[in-house]
Amino acid sequence: MITIEPIEKLTTQLSRLPGIGRKTAQRLAYHILSVPEAQAKELADAITEARENVCNCPVCGTYTDVVPCRICSDDRRDGSVICVVCDPRDVAAMEKVREFRGKYHVLHGVLSPMEGIGPNDIRIRELVERVSDGTVKEVILATNPDVEGEATASYIARLLKPMGITCTRIAHGIPIGGNLEYTDEVTLAKALEGRRLLG
Ligand SMILES: [Zn+2]
Repeated sequence: MITIEPIEKLTTQLSRLPGIGRKTAQRLAYHILSVPEAQAKELADAITEARENVCNCPVCGTYTDVVPCRICSDDRRDGSVICVVCDPRDVAAMEKVREFRGKYHVLHGVLSPMEGIGPNDIRIRELVERVSDGTVKEVILATNPDVEGEATASYIARLLKPMGITCTRIAHGIPIGGNLEYTDEVTLAKALEGRRLLG
């Protein structure tokens, strides 16, 4: 079998993407080769541009192309309520609901003793610093309802409650072991509405 090195290289890179096996990667590589060159270049440029122009918001930690992000700098949003999520994708999921008018804090992970992820490895310190100026009254812990998400939520609630912050947890409707990102908007809106006091 002959190997065409550039195709091989493209296939290898594509197969490193999540959910893409070797076969799919090869199919995509051949597809990229079959489209007009300009279209292939648009794909390559989009990857480069996204990496160059998107960063983590220094305030909330979500992905943004302006600093601070559009949510953090929006004065019409309620800065006294912060919704804590694991991942920038969760911000996008919550924003689709349109019912939440507060601000966000992205942890970029969850506490996981099994994987050696402790409080210093995710953006907990930044959250504590953020709420310590007294503007924040409520923190909604919207980590996923799995073991690690629950543990992370309780850990944060234990830290923030002595600071006089009301800590609530979204609860209803999201299945145990579920994922915010894949929860439909109605369920997510209900989960937000039915949040309970933590601790
Ligand atoms: Zn932000």
